[in-house]
Amino acid sequence: MTPPLHIAPLKSWLPFDGRPLVVSGPCSAESEKQVRATAAELVKIPEVKVFRAGIWKPRTRPSSFEGVGKKGLKWLQKVKQDTGLLLTVEVASPGHVREALEHDIDILWIGARTVVNPFSIQEIGEALQGHDIPLMIKNPLNPDLQTWTGAIERFNQMGLHKLVAVHRGFSFFTRSPYRNAPMWEIPIELMCMYPKMPMLNDPSHICGKRELLLPTAQKAMDLEMTGLMIETHYRPEDALTDKRQQITPERLGKLLKSLVIRKETGSFAFKTKLEGLRSEIDKLDEELIDILARRMSVVEEIGRYKKENRITILQLKRWNKIIRDRIEHGIRLGLNREFVIRLLEAIHDETIQKQMDVMNKKA
Ligand code: PEP
Ligand code: MN
Repeated sequence: MTPPLHIAPLKSWLPFDGRPLVVSGPCSAESEKQVRATAAELVKIPEVKVFRAGIWKPRTRPSSFEGVGKKGLKWLQKVKQDTGLLLTVEVASPGHVREALEHDIDILWIGARTVVNPFSIQEIGEALQGHDIPLMIKNPLNPDLQTWTGAIERFNQMGLHKLVAVHRGFSFFTRSPYRNAPMWEIPIELMCMYPKMPMLNDPSHICGKRELLLPTAQKAMDLEMTGLMIETHYRPEDALTDKRQQITPERLGKLLKSLVIRKETGSFAFKTKLEGLRSEIDKLDEELIDILARRMSVVEEIGRYKKENRITILQLKRWNKIIRDRIEHGIRLGLNREFVIRLLEAIHDETIQKQMDVMNKKA
């Protein structure tokens, strides 16, 4: 059973006036000029409520730029004075937490590399004891829902209630246009488990390149995610980290304008029609399950009959014929060939199992 979470409503701690809530700013703080110039443009975009910048950067190789450290926090304080935007930085250790709290950072975020480590989560949670600060928790690098929910539950049990999940995609070793495969089914499952927990989508780290940002952000909105974390830089071509995926604030403004934000709940007529269609689906699903159960009881009967007559379970010729006929039938009705095959294979596996059970049953 999923333990219940105690999540403070987003509106109770953030001036949020409708989807999408946007968190934006550079991948890394690089100079005072860069953060202030970027923020000065971002503040003109009404959806942008929070300014992000990486101060300590988790880099794969030691010789890469690892962030400007503490001095960048002072630049961020200037951003807050200039613009009034809330500030967020990534923290990966109790030391980072202390520095961030000392410099009036409003929201902390836990990166994909930190969230996988329960020791780090515990230490960060302990450093936050007594601070009622909001936390954004990115998904772990590996596509494992439990690692993500484990970190969320751990923070929640340590008294942190202003929590937000961030979907930034997963490392996955197949060729894909994305830097990190979105695997939408994982954040969707988390949203179903914890419907009160806001979910942001981070198309920058999913896509790895500017061109894919818009369709990814649109999909997030169509899945009713609360908002977006998008990396922006006043001069993306000069960025020291994640250059290919950062966009100018101006381009972010255009991207947000071209998003279609569909309503979560529609008019009465729409809801009535949707309800009707949904109850039709419920009925069909019930029939499907009934039919499968009936099919399995016939299968058992065949199994018993084969046993009495000492006939083998798997009869390849018959199975090949079933596959051919059913695929043809399915395609005629407009079903996708691969889907029919997958479905038949699952049914066949269960059929074999059922007949094996019958064979092995002592008379
Ligand atoms: C980032 O947001 O810049 C970052 C390092 O993100 P992630 O932890 O998702 O890789
Ligand atoms: Mn980045």
